[in-house]
Amino acid sequence: MSKAAPRPGDIYSPTLRFIQSAKMRPKTGRLQSLIDRRSTKKVRFAQIDAAATTPQKHHVLSQAARLEGERRTSKYSPIVVRDACQCEQCVDPSDRQRNFSYSDIPRTIGFDQVSYDEEAKEVRISWSNDIPTSAKAAPHQSVFSRDVISRLNRKFRNPHWDLYQRPLKLWGRDTFKQGTSRVDFNDYMNNEASFAEAVHLLWRDGLLFIDGVPESEASVSQIVNRIGPLQQTFYGPTWDVRSVPNAKNVAYTSKYLGFHMDLLYMRDPPGFQFLHCVHNSAAGGESRFADTFQALDQVFQKHPMYYAVLRDGLVRYEYDNDGFFYSDAKPTVQLNDALNVPPRPVLNSTSTEISNIAHCFWSPPFVGSVPSRLPPDELVKFVSASKVFSQHLEMPENVVEEKMDSGTCVIFDNLRIVHARNAFDKNSGKRWLRGAYLNRQDFVSKAASVMADMPEVDISPDPIDGPTD
Ligand SMILES: [Zn+2]
Repeated sequence: MSKAAPRPGDIYSPTLRFIQSAKMRPKTGRLQSLIDRRSTKKVRFAQIDAAATTPQKHHVLSQAARLEGERRTSKYSPIVVRDACQCEQCVDPSDRQRNFSYSDIPRTIGFDQVSYDEEAKEVRISWSNDIPTSAKAAPHQSVFSRDVISRLNRKFRNPHWDLYQRPLKLWGRDTFKQGTSRVDFNDYMNNEASFAEAVHLLWRDGLLFIDGVPESEASVSQIVNRIGPLQQTFYGPTWDVRSVPNAKNVAYTSKYLGFHMDLLYMRDPPGFQFLHCVHNSAAGGESRFADTFQALDQVFQKHPMYYAVLRDGLVRYEYDNDGFFYSDAKPTVQLNDALNVPPRPVLNSTSTEISNIAHCFWSPPFVGSVPSRLPPDELVKFVSASKVFSQHLEMPENVVEEKMDSGTCVIFDNLRIVHARNAFDKNSGKRWLRGAYLNRQDFVSKAASVMADMPEVDISPDPIDGPTD
């Protein structure tokens, strides 16, 4: 590309203009990042367009963007804007499915007219070289609210993503408030505000207790179904934890069960686990919980090199027993980027790194193998890092302990909170817990839908996802 400033007559493609305009303002962070990542490809594409098509009048959306009161003028590719049209011709109003494919958008599409309706506070756009079918029907005009326009350049555009601006809070023995992290079963089931509060606590802390749960086999399903469908596994839709002879799974015995997460050998392990204590009169068997994000925050502070090893080393989890074989490899620390979800603000963390963590995976009892193909010195580092992490999880100040009483149900984020169980005396009394799982996306869907009823939290004024893709 020539370094000379573009002349208006040179501009055949809004895409080209977008890049050139951006280049003239190297200080603007969001435009610069686009150029860094994509300029070569985009410019080359725009040049082909310029040679192949006749000059046309193109309007950029500067008018619309200024309506947002933005300090700088944003410009948008007409493909991005056309793709975002939500009118009845483009998106079925009842099932919300698209009536066009983005692959049908002509590469020569351009803005024909852009106007702003003061009264309706809407931006109206007509197109040159619109999608053929769409053009053949009634003349097609796209209408956007100011809010939609302001979100167009965001990586996470749907307002439901605002859920991720609600912070998570790291906790330990003294900062997790066992007394207030509880909701009554009837309130949870019947009161919208109490239910939204429960979902808020799960989103923030990943650990919550429900009290007053009826002593019924159906109770745990009811608690799950308030949020979403049960996640079915080979253990069935719900499952029981009690000591039985010849146990196939260590959870059915009475011995100590160390910190772990459930079903990490599955590609899509449960997002949340529900454990209803139907009955408990046995001595011992206290449940223990720890926040892996808090432990990771500490590891990151003291041993950043170990943190990197936990992020990069893949552990293979395996279940190979009784005619079942499941296996999957996961890092101990999984970043948001890997899942294409936004970062989340973290209250009381000592570094910003924890914002980038989506999940932590930790389940030593179900490991199939360490990353055996690592060079020997790397493998030593990997084991050492895992040891340090495990030590932090076990630090007494990081552990919350609760003896589950009959009528209590604990809910916890299975991809953040590790759980363990002290040994108990099988002969001292009856102990029966009934468990169930919920997929994480089903939880997020419900959480996004009750966001308006959740307690107010301080949300940073700047969008955390950053405006560009
Ligand atoms: Zn449309």
